[in-house]
Amino acid sequence: MAEQNLFEEVKRHLCSCSADLQITPNLEAVMKMPMRELHVSIPVRMDDGSIRAFSGFRVQYNDALGPTKGGIRFHPDETIDTIRGLAAIMTWKCALHNLPLGGAKGGVICNPKTMSSGEIERLSRAYIQATSHFIGPDRDIPAPDVYTDSEVMAWMMDEYSRIFRKTTFGVITGKPVSLGGSEGREDATARGGWFVIREAAKDFGIVLEGAKVAIQGFGNVGAHAAIIGQEQYSVRVVAVSDSRGGVFAREGLDVPALLEHKKKTGSVMDFPDARNITNEELLALDVDILIPAALENVITIDNASRVKARFIAEFANGPVSGDADALLHARGVPILPDILCNGGGVIVSYLEMVQNFNLDHWERGEVIARLERKMVDAYRAVYNLASGNNVPMRQAGYTIAVGRVVKAMKYRGWV
Ligand code: NAD
Repeated sequence: MAEQNLFEEVKRHLCSCSADLQITPNLEAVMKMPMRELHVSIPVRMDDGSIRAFSGFRVQYNDALGPTKGGIRFHPDETIDTIRGLAAIMTWKCALHNLPLGGAKGGVICNPKTMSSGEIERLSRAYIQATSHFIGPDRDIPAPDVYTDSEVMAWMMDEYSRIFRKTTFGVITGKPVSLGGSEGREDATARGGWFVIREAAKDFGIVLEGAKVAIQGFGNVGAHAAIIGQEQYSVRVVAVSDSRGGVFAREGLDVPALLEHKKKTGSVMDFPDARNITNEELLALDVDILIPAALENVITIDNASRVKARFIAEFANGPVSGDADALLHARGVPILPDILCNGGGVIVSYLEMVQNFNLDHWERGEVIARLERKMVDAYRAVYNLASGNNVPMRQAGYTIAVGRVVKAMKYRGWV
């Protein structure tokens, strides 16, 4: 992960809207700290019989608006400050999308790429054993994030249910559809992001049909972004990348064939009829839309001046650092901020919770219609405030979101 500290970056975004909201320094100080965090050491028996202790975290940032919600990451470069920053982002994201939820995030420092399926299952269950008193369906509800998926969520739900001796679907979202999961959750983040791009394209005069798109990351969010972009909006996905590097094809990549290639070889690289490129080259391509969908702080002050995209849609959390953000805004490159653009995941996770509470299962069309309404409403609110006040869309998003959290804290009598 980049050297920049995500938590410090997110705190700066919070400050950007303090004056507009007339937030006092004391109140700002309250919102710059997570309300609760848990640090655990998780012993796991490895396949060779040895025991390894993994460090894990769960940060509940702010629960003024409701129970906290946020994913769990398994990543070798995880840090507590990244998790704090991501938990803060979740707080503002849930508020911006008008969900009755606060923000949280969890993580374990580990490299799942070097672990067997059995080791990952034992780690997932052990994480829940270590945190089960801290989370819960009406307290804090995790979900998938980088290098965790629906299988991991199923193990975690099962472990929590064993501990409390009752099946508790609502403790975690992003589960398999056949085990309390929601239709449409798998691709919700990417689909929601495309609803925002579709609306923004109208406002910024970009024709999506044939538009050139580059996507960094080809995991859950990035791969679905490529599929949906090509199938539903007829864009030309000219480049994608993963942790090893990327591929570029001027006429557009055959996304389904690329998915097969990645499944077979473990990477998008060396795809026939495409040229290998680096992640840095991908970020500097001359495209209409750049979609960072991997990790935080990939567009920084060092490379922002090389970005040629007409606009950036942040499908990842925190991919553009604060100083790069200012530079791109000054150059007139609109940024659709993470708290707006990638809210689809938590929106459908929330819908999954609602279904779980009622032991219900909605049809895919119903889930997608609700997702679309929420994404479009949030986009319109952000765009109107940003264009009315002539401020970046990130600042407008934070103003709306932080204003809602402050109001909830005041109603509760906390401040
Ligand atoms: P994932 O684990 O499914 O995929 C991550 C992708 O990033 C992989 O293709 C990986 O190869 C690539 N990657 C890792 N390191 C990289 C590097 N250094 N350079 C380039 N690519 C690299 O994770 P995901 O769920 O797709 O999450 C991606 C981003 O989207 C994260 O920022 C996450 O927080 C955010 N996000 C995810 C969801 C969700 O529903 N999964 C929701 C909101 C936001």
